[in-house]
This record gives sequence, C-alpha cells and structure tokens, in this order.
Amino acid sequence: MNCEELIRYLSDYIDNNLDEDLRADAEEHLRTCHNCHVVLDTTRKTILMYKGSIKDPIPAPRRVALFDRLLKAVSERQDCPPEEE
Ligand SMILES: [Zn+2]
Repeated sequence: MNCEELIRYLSDYIDNNLDEDLRADAEEHLRTCHNCHVVLDTTRKTILMYKGSIKDPIPAPRRVALFDRLLKAVSERQDCPPEEE
C-alpha cells in the first residue's frame, strides 16, 4: 500500500469498515510511514472534534473535501518512502 491508497482508505480505517486484509495493509503502512501516521492522528482528532461538537457524523461532502485536501498534501510530499508491493 502506498500513501495515496492509505489516505483513500483512511476514513474506512478510522470507522473500522475495512476488511482484514486491507486493515493489515493499512497498519503495515502506518508502521513504516511517519507522514501517514501523522495524517491518521490529525484526521482522527478532527473527526472526533466534529462528532463532539455537532453530534452528527461529518456530512459526506465535507468529509470528501477533507480527504481530498489530505490526499493532496500527502501526494505533494517528497519524503515518503517509495511504494512497496
Ligand atoms: Zn504514507
């Protein structure tokens, strides 16, 4: 799994919606990639903040926009390890 894939699955990862294989892949990547670990941490906190303040889950369009922004931020970084298969 590379950084882009990780970010794509991040929402489902946080919600525990990934199947076992994908979850294992995501965890493997998170162990080796500091950037994605930080993104996960930030995203989780952001989601918890939203949930805590408005009681409802983040509305889908806003969530998509959030992940688009994260994906862009990560893909612009040069210091992530290369994709491993
Ligand atoms: Zn990464």
